[in-house]
Amino acid sequence: MTKKVRVRFAPSPTGPLHIGGVRTALFNYLFAKKHGGDFILRIEDTDQNRYVEGAEQYIIDALKWCGMPIDEGVGKEGAFGPYRQSERKDLYKQYADELIASGNAYYAFDTAETLDFHRKDHEAKGKTFIYNWHNRLKLSNSLSLSAEETQAKIDAGEDYVVRFKSPQDETLHLKDIIRGDIKIDTNILDDKVLFKSDGMPTYHLANIVDDHLMEITHVIRGEEWLPSLALHYQLYKAFGWEAPEFAHLPLILKPTGKGKLSKRDGDKLGFPVFPLEWKDPKTNEISRGYKEDGYFPEAMVNFLAFLGWNPGTEQEIFSLDQLINDFDLKRVNKAGARFDPDKTKWFNHHYMQEQYDEVLAEAFKPIVDAKLNADIDSQYIGMAIGLVKERATFVSDFWDLTHYFFTAPTSYDEKASKKAFKEDTKAILSEISTIVNGIEDFTVENIQTTIKGWITSNEIGFGKVMMPLRLALVGALQGPDVFDIMYMIGKNESIKRIENVISTL
Ligand code: GLU
Repeated sequence: MTKKVRVRFAPSPTGPLHIGGVRTALFNYLFAKKHGGDFILRIEDTDQNRYVEGAEQYIIDALKWCGMPIDEGVGKEGAFGPYRQSERKDLYKQYADELIASGNAYYAFDTAETLDFHRKDHEAKGKTFIYNWHNRLKLSNSLSLSAEETQAKIDAGEDYVVRFKSPQDETLHLKDIIRGDIKIDTNILDDKVLFKSDGMPTYHLANIVDDHLMEITHVIRGEEWLPSLALHYQLYKAFGWEAPEFAHLPLILKPTGKGKLSKRDGDKLGFPVFPLEWKDPKTNEISRGYKEDGYFPEAMVNFLAFLGWNPGTEQEIFSLDQLINDFDLKRVNKAGARFDPDKTKWFNHHYMQEQYDEVLAEAFKPIVDAKLNADIDSQYIGMAIGLVKERATFVSDFWDLTHYFFTAPTSYDEKASKKAFKEDTKAILSEISTIVNGIEDFTVENIQTTIKGWITSNEIGFGKVMMPLRLALVGALQGPDVFDIMYMIGKNESIKRIENVISTL
């Protein structure tokens, strides 16, 4: 029997989740759901110095907004909790002890000053200081000291760290689903710190212990963790545990394609890099989010999926369900994925078209009401949206596209007026005003047949009527079908606007 797929998204609450983090969560989610597995949220908060207030809630909210519910984790207890590493603190020491007992790890007492001295000293000689087989016996640790000396230091309450004892002259064979086989010479690895005398594990130890105890089958995470893979492999081996499979996702690159997309690029380049708005609890500085910028979660999920993955076909539009169906880690690239802010807009425009007008009206109503200082009927707003939305990318585009459905033009576009208004225009509009007044049942069809019929029987050019009429209703030569606009604003308002343009221009 194959094991149930269990993946985890394991962010550290050091600030808002960057879109790269959301992409990691998404790929984990897709993989889990594709294989009928569990998607787990583990909060890796062992580094208390980097803990940021509100970051954990932000992560939870972001996953929720994207529509990726967790099966277990912080906020949804399951059989493998607690899911916050700070609450698992007491668990890790025994594993550090176990590695020391088996000879895979050792105590080290070197002070920060000593290590700094060695680093600088090596640098001055054009070398790099690596704490490993090469020089560990010259340093202050339980391998260079006697058992009694070591114990005495511990008993005296000296600060220590537990380091992994990386082997000499071995070649490690690592496997990555995306990158294939990787060979690593252990001689270049340093003896990473696993545990500190303050009782806290480092990322490496906590991460491996938890992935094992939580029965994680696949570790899917960003490329920046690839350098840790060798150590992680060795830790599994040292514990005698079966390692999960690994997949390291490609970097997300700046829109230029050069360099990693950073948290600061958003502000610099004018697009959000965070899913939700974030207010820094210390500086109160606000960073914009996709949600608040008017993106639909469907659009965000769709464009994130394409940052590193592709279906191998021309299809670009994928709902979350379709992604679950088609997702395959084997189709994830090694090469960095260029982030294209224009494409995110393209996706949003698409999902805007798919959205119900009633739903869009809900979002737009507060804007309309505020502009007009009134309570405008939602259904009417929805109808206006339906007529213009093919030109809109965001809800915030709606006002420019629909204002004339709500208020009469107060001025007329100069260029358009020149183009639309000729000598006989006023006379023509006067006649139009009269026949519009005569329409009994003011439906789109009736308006259209009446006006078109009048144009045909008077043998006037279509544009000679429709252009000034549009100008009268809209104030410019834009907008959807004139007959739709007239129907929407009603007979009296239509006539009023025609009369107004006659007297103004
Ligand atoms: N806590 C790590 C992070 O913040 C998790 C890395 C991993 O998935 O192993 O990205």
